[in-house]
Amino acid sequence: MTDSNRFQAIISHSKEYGFIFPSSEIYDGLGAVYDYGQWGSELKKNIRDHWWKSMTQMHENIVGIDAAIFMHPTTWKASGHVENFSDPMIDNKDSNKRYRVDHLIEAKAEEMASENREDEAHALIHDMEQLLAKDDFDGLKKLIINQNIQCPIGKSANWTDIRQFNLMFSTQMGSVTDDADTIYLRPETAQGIFVNFLNVQKTGRMKIPFGIAQTGKAFRNEIVARQFIFRMREFEQMEMQFFVRPGTQMEWYEYWKAERMKWHLSLGVQAGRYRFHDHVKLAHYADAACDIEYDFPIGFKEVEGIHSRTDYDLRRHQEFSKKKLQYFDTEINQNYIPYVVETSIGLDRTVMMILSETFLEEDLSTDEKNDSRVVLKLPPMLAPIKLAILPLTKKDGLPDIARSIMNDCKSFFRCFYEEKDTIGKRYRRMDAIGTPFCVTVDHQSKEDNTVTIRYRDTMLQERIPIDTIKNLVSQSIIS
Ligand code: ATP
Repeated sequence: MTDSNRFQAIISHSKEYGFIFPSSEIYDGLGAVYDYGQWGSELKKNIRDHWWKSMTQMHENIVGIDAAIFMHPTTWKASGHVENFSDPMIDNKDSNKRYRVDHLIEAKAEEMASENREDEAHALIHDMEQLLAKDDFDGLKKLIINQNIQCPIGKSANWTDIRQFNLMFSTQMGSVTDDADTIYLRPETAQGIFVNFLNVQKTGRMKIPFGIAQTGKAFRNEIVARQFIFRMREFEQMEMQFFVRPGTQMEWYEYWKAERMKWHLSLGVQAGRYRFHDHVKLAHYADAACDIEYDFPIGFKEVEGIHSRTDYDLRRHQEFSKKKLQYFDTEINQNYIPYVVETSIGLDRTVMMILSETFLEEDLSTDEKNDSRVVLKLPPMLAPIKLAILPLTKKDGLPDIARSIMNDCKSFFRCFYEEKDTIGKRYRRMDAIGTPFCVTVDHQSKEDNTVTIRYRDTMLQERIPIDTIKNLVSQSIIS
């Protein structure tokens, strides 16, 4: 299967099995906005919980908060988003389509690479990064013209000049529609942490170094919004800001790079599918930054950013709010504005990464018959359902035994009870949504209190005592 077919197969599978639907689909959907269905919302929640636990429960010096999406408008002036949160865009005069300049050039580089022109592709990306770093829009336009980059839709190279386009959504608060009431939907969750820095530090009696973690929705008016849940206009972030003594930020930056990679590997993703990408053009607030990229079916792309943000944000909020945002370090007897190392991961991109990693179409054909199955080989801790309980028939007291297993287990982990269809069909449905364990209750269960457990990945089956099921599943899902 080609990568593009595989990507389409994952999108179709996500819809068919209740993971992800286009938003307001009965009205033909809304661009780059998606809804999570019954199993997608469980998968997403399990990833979020795993992240939250790894940050807050496993690090004694990190606490979590839940700040509002709406923030005082000055927040976004102080953070630099009103002025700088924009992407260079170019319009095609024939098709009237607008593109992000980096996306257009990257697509050209991908095309070159697919034609075995790897060296040219690398050179093109290198040139683009150099020009972006200098905000050299004339140079970028020349690059587009010289490379004869065409509009993917109209196939023409009739381009406008390059301009900046702000990505924040704005709305009005209250009834008066003057400027003072214009507020933004937050484009990142981080600022909710910065403005609460002192609240948390003081009330939690936190000592530097310490971190504040948060998960929540963020909104960006992405111009080229495509590629399924990779680039959405409404999405969810999981961010952690780690406050450190000035001068120690590079040590912590390296620490968090290693720590975050460990977390990624704990998801069961193969190490070879990740790579670090150092930023050439640093954001206005950063003194070091890199991305963790995953090898999606659409190529290596960013899942998480790790940024050393200096004291930029706290300093700016101090300036704009006129409130001191400082910390008195008793170890060195000094007052200072802490430096910040942040880890920022997209929850939806992580869902897409996990689906890409675990979606498999397996050929099970033998000499006797053709057979295949679609399976999501999710780590048990992430699976929407952990255990399916399947009575072989609807009679002879088998449903009663199955129900009692269900009652025994359901307060410990998510179970699913099903009587309908053949056992084979029920197994396949569970494979398709990634359920790691199925137990079948049959007539022998009445005799000796055992069931057949079937393991999703190996499809092996064995008999185990009913009273061992709960423990076996519970052990497998500890994160
Ligand atoms: P990109 O370069 O892909 O636009 P970014 O560098 O602007 O991403 P950050 O501002 O560092 O992204 O945001 C942190 C994380 O939030 C990203 O690593 C990504 O996982 C996620 N994210 C950002 N924008 C989107 C989006 N439009 N849809 C889904 N997730 C997103």
